[in-house]
Amino acid sequence: MHHDVVVVGGGAGGLELAASLGRKLGRAEGPRRVLLVDRSVFHIWKPTLHEVAAGTLDSHQEGLSYTVLARRNHFSFTLGELRGLDSAGRTLKLGAIHDEQGRLLVPERTLTYRWLVLAVGSGSNFFGTPGAEHAYVLEQAADAERFRRHLQAAFTRTAFSPDKRLRIVIVGGGATGVELSAELIEAHQETLASLGAEQRFRLDLSIVEAAPRILAGLPERISAQATTALERKQVSVLTNTPVKALLPDRLVTATGEIPADLIVWAAGIKAAEANTTLGLTTNRAHQFVVNEKLETSAAGVYALGDCAACLWHGDKMVPARAQAAHQQASFLVATLGALLHERAPSGRFHYRDFGSLVSLGENKGVGNLMGGLAGRNFFVEGLLAKYMYMSLHLNHHRAILGLRGTFVLALARLLQRRVSGRLKLH
Ligand SMILES: Cc1cc2nc3c(=O)[nH]c(=O)nc-3n(C[C@H](O)[C@H](O)[C@H](O)COP(=O)(O)OP(=O)(O)OC[C@H]3O[C@@H](n4cnc5c(N)ncnc54)[C@H](O)[C@@H]3O)c2cc1C
Repeated sequence: MHHDVVVVGGGAGGLELAASLGRKLGRAEGPRRVLLVDRSVFHIWKPTLHEVAAGTLDSHQEGLSYTVLARRNHFSFTLGELRGLDSAGRTLKLGAIHDEQGRLLVPERTLTYRWLVLAVGSGSNFFGTPGAEHAYVLEQAADAERFRRHLQAAFTRTAFSPDKRLRIVIVGGGATGVELSAELIEAHQETLASLGAEQRFRLDLSIVEAAPRILAGLPERISAQATTALERKQVSVLTNTPVKALLPDRLVTATGEIPADLIVWAAGIKAAEANTTLGLTTNRAHQFVVNEKLETSAAGVYALGDCAACLWHGDKMVPARAQAAHQQASFLVATLGALLHERAPSGRFHYRDFGSLVSLGENKGVGNLMGGLAGRNFFVEGLLAKYMYMSLHLNHHRAILGLRGTFVLALARLLQRRVSGRLKLH
């Protein structure tokens, strides 16, 4: 099978890229020239995984099927997992995919391309901490679903237990840990509202962070606001507390032990080790090293998003964020658009940091916007910050569904929530 452009990974960046290129080429040309490969059959925007994990977002309702997206945006889709690359021969190897019973779904295949884009995202970084198998992670929809099922069981079990106390510890006080804790508090409150007095139980939720403050990558003011908001919701925020080991029922930290019924690891990310076997230059975090055109060490092979190591301002790296993947996808639409029309691409990728927004539950957020009025950094909080945070998700939907599709989907979800409620614990 041959396509001019093959994009591997249909996440925040890769899907936007395939959809934009497909739409540019149109119904007749697009499916023949652009192919998207993903190991999953449906797409879910990764920044919503903490909501799926807490049961405040239904992954079946949120997920969008790649086959439908491909048809609407005029690209081809194939299910497959990247296994090997021969960049000199412009050939890609996809491994076989099996179902849950181990039966073969898709055999091993070889694809050829003119230009390849690697957009395979990242996973968790345990920094060598022993006991990683005792923690839940939020790397893909299946991880978030698994945590949600176990959370539901833990809620039910605790409601009927003698001590009526559930202890959840989140390791890592970055945006993922903070946002997950806010959702878990709301899931607990909604659950309590449905229980009789004799079944009400306590949720002891802690965030354990090695750095002196949570949201360490954001301005101090945001970190202080988030700490206050979480502490008001009775979340213990333990900073300066590096985790040394994870055990089935507790964490060992530099300052003592913390008992835990459920542990979530949200302390760092790292790209897949398999990236280092493709013959491309990678860094210590297994990211593909790219130049200012987002090209890897092999001609015709590009990388974007969390799996790409791209310099920013000469010495810093472009952060692993959805807004970076989105900007890189837009840049590659221009590059590959030119190449597909046999023109030389121009320009270099410049990352523009528009600031950061962190959700603190259904109606609350906090964040900063860069380059706003008079080029200054300004802070937002409360409902306004939450609406701005939600607009990022809507923007992603707009890139893959168009304006009308996004509006219809948002309305349908709002109406569904009105009837079924926000919490999905079944
Ligand atoms: C809970 C959570 C909250 C977040 N919140 C925010 C936020 O508020 N703002 C923000 O900017 N960022 C946020 N992020 C980070 C953001 O999600 C990522 O930076 C972004 O998704 C990266 O996009 P990507 O396209 O590089 O990879 P991804 O979106 O991770 O997509 C990677 C795709 O590649 C596929 N894939 C992986 N390996 C293979 C393979 N070998 N073969 C085939 N397909 C493969 C996967 O199935 C997936 O579809 C959050 C992350 C998490 C986990």
